[in-house]
Amino acid sequence: MPTLADYDKIAAGKVRELYAVDDDHLLMVASDRISAYDHVLATPIPDKGRVLTAMSVFWFDLLADIVDHHMVAYDDPRIPAEVRGRALLVRRLEMLPVEAVARGYLAGSGTADYRATGAVCGIALPDGLTEGSRLPEPIFTPATKAELGAHDENIDFAAVVELLGAEQAERVRELTLRIYRRGAEHALANGIILADTKIELGLRDGGLVLGDEVLTPDSSRYWPVETWAPGQAQPSFDKQYVRDWLTSSESGWDRASDTPPPPLPDAVVANTRARYVQAYEQLTGRKFADWIG
Ligand code: ATP
Ligand code: MG
Repeated sequence: MPTLADYDKIAAGKVRELYAVDDDHLLMVASDRISAYDHVLATPIPDKGRVLTAMSVFWFDLLADIVDHHMVAYDDPRIPAEVRGRALLVRRLEMLPVEAVARGYLAGSGTADYRATGAVCGIALPDGLTEGSRLPEPIFTPATKAELGAHDENIDFAAVVELLGAEQAERVRELTLRIYRRGAEHALANGIILADTKIELGLRDGGLVLGDEVLTPDSSRYWPVETWAPGQAQPSFDKQYVRDWLTSSESGWDRASDTPPPPLPDAVVANTRARYVQAYEQLTGRKFADWIG
């Protein structure tokens, strides 16, 4: 049996690591780290990596009739025991240099763009929308892939055409919107709004393949349908406990300062873990206790 140390680490993001297994395969490992307000917190959330991996597996399968995906296996002798359940063996892809984002609701940088220009990524929107508003129809709002530590920047469709060529750009837009629509429809049927999502596509033998993680709370905004109320920041299905605690007087943390957030109390960790598990079970209809690892 291999251990992680047998593989070369080829990339490390805020919460995930990528290892080379062989010329054709990578190991994508999800940690239990959590980020909030642009900080990776000092306290991990137990099982977060396994929940997000299980969720990606569910979505890759559900989307398989729309798009090919990079997942080879989640249980395989090439996956070291120490990361079983939070690692995927995937096919190596040549990743496209764009973050493919679809939005069905206005939030985050979408709201900021809309307030400044009345448009998001060059797509004009009706007047009177606000943070959390449902858009008349889902839109493709691509972004650049920023270097480590930098923020992705929204770009318009013309910029995607410049990067990928007209035909490929059109395919990416269509695919991204189809994936968003399918995900949003499934989530809403289970009481959860999928406000937006970012997917990453790559090429294999000339065809587009869905890579990275997919429709996880780290790549998507999930909102409980019962608390949806445009006009303010929407509570996030998974991270709200953490965010609320961090900005409460109890944490003693000043978000505007340069200081890192303090460690999380056990109760906040437990509640946050429970929310991730609930999101998984509610979205997939599966029991997290049945997941491997
Ligand atoms: P962060 O998301 O923390 O801001 P990041 O995007 O650099 O930083 P990760 O998301 O952990 O970090 O990195 C995953 C990387 O792996 C991304 O660059 C993604 O494009 C790449 N990737 C995902 N799937 C594949 C694949 N099948 N083949 C090659 N690269 C892949
Ligand atoms: Mg990433």
